[in-house]
Amino acid sequence: LPILLHGFLYRNAAATASLPTFLLVGPSGGGKTAFTTLTERNTITQTHTSTQPLTVEALLPSPHIPASAHYRSAGDPAFERARRFLLLDTPGHGKLRHYATAQLADPKTIRAIIFVVDAAALAEEAGLNEAAEYLHDVLLALQKRYTSATTSKGPKEIPVLIAANKMDLFTALPANLVKHQLEKAITEVRTSRAKALRDAGAALSGGEDEVDEEKEWLGEGGEGAFEFSQMQEIGTAVGVVGANVLGQGEKGSVEGWWEWIGENL
Ligand code: GDP
Repeated sequence: LPILLHGFLYRNAAATASLPTFLLVGPSGGGKTAFTTLTERNTITQTHTSTQPLTVEALLPSPHIPASAHYRSAGDPAFERARRFLLLDTPGHGKLRHYATAQLADPKTIRAIIFVVDAAALAEEAGLNEAAEYLHDVLLALQKRYTSATTSKGPKEIPVLIAANKMDLFTALPANLVKHQLEKAITEVRTSRAKALRDAGAALSGGEDEVDEEKEWLGEGGEGAFEFSQMQEIGTAVGVVGANVLGQGEKGSVEGWWEWIGENL
């Protein structure tokens, strides 16, 4: 048995490096740590480091099925392998966001992005604007990665889940409103960023450090509103799914998020 066990652990460690990574981002207080802790309960091994960010190895819980193994049955070693993934939690605090943006600058190892947001905080202007600015920057980083790709095929698609958390709170916006409000707020972020760039450009006058405005514009150009569906063009499908990691009194439920992870696993 010890020999068998040793063999298992050895293979386990070697396989971890190649597991698909789901990157957790979003404003602080959204519930990223709570979701990571919940996920750890499904964990086989933990790749804890004392420094941020935190990576945990997770298992997609049944009855959810990884898309890559939907034709296999439970118990099949390939099926069990396909259920494994890494969850990379990043600090949401403004000053610490470089951890997340560093990941986005080189997202080769990232399978998908989960943007966790407090759906009740979105009902307030400050919370909505903070989330919209952060999400705008995440999507713009993905767009730049796509438009600067050298192959004609474009880089691998990276889907984004807007994980609308805290649905147990009665002030929480429902998922369709979360989508609508964020699209509206991102439209405004886009306009104010463009104006800031123009102002900066005018102040430079020499034009030496001119920024390519088009590259900094998220989604379609023109006067129209921003919509998440515009991200399809850069290989990013955006989904909005409500859930609650914790519950008042009873347990929370994140079944919709597991389902989305399964579809992208
Ligand atoms: P992070 O900054 O994104 O990592 O957020 P945390 O995981 O630290 O969560 C922030 C706060 O929200 C904590 O006090 C959590 O207990 C609370 N919280 C997380 N998920 C839920 C939820 O689904 N419902 C409610 N009511 N509170 C939650």
